[in-house]
Amino acid sequence: MNQMLRSHTYDHHDNSSNGTHRTSQVEMILESIVATVGEADRLAIAQVLNQMTVKPAILASLYRAFLDHPDAVSIGAPPLVGRLVMALREAGIAIGEPTCVGCGRTNHKLTSSQEGGVCGNCRHRQLATTCVSCGKIKIVHGRDPNGGALCSLCSPRKND
Ligand SMILES: [Zn+2]
Ligand SMILES: [Zn+2]
Repeated sequence: MNQMLRSHTYDHHDNSSNGTHRTSQVEMILESIVATVGEADRLAIAQVLNQMTVKPAILASLYRAFLDHPDAVSIGAPPLVGRLVMALREAGIAIGEPTCVGCGRTNHKLTSSQEGGVCGNCRHRQLATTCVSCGKIKIVHGRDPNGGALCSLCSPRKND
């Protein structure tokens, strides 16, 4: 039996596994932005991205956002992506300001929804539904025993 254990012969160069991890996350975000904005601005985007993601927590949050929505920069949500978009704009990259798809307002923190980035007010409106008790379209405040939506007026108060 001549066992040649060659488990470590292939040469993959990772001097620091931590650094490699960071690089791959930044690259994934960079590729997502380039796919949305265009190849021409790749260098400028990389610069902005590297400056913004110095803190590992910010990089991790951005990475998650782009995993969920590769086109996050065109949505401008969540707020951290909104910040990134503004930083990219300041660097002269032609990219739309984060705008609520519901009311068109800018300068608001956006949440991503099926329709796109929405501000807090519009998100509330999206979540509104017909109250099973009074029939009005309102923000869901509670549920009846069957799981039907109840508005704030119709949902039972906790102290009653
Ligand atoms: Zn809105
Ligand atoms: Zn009601």
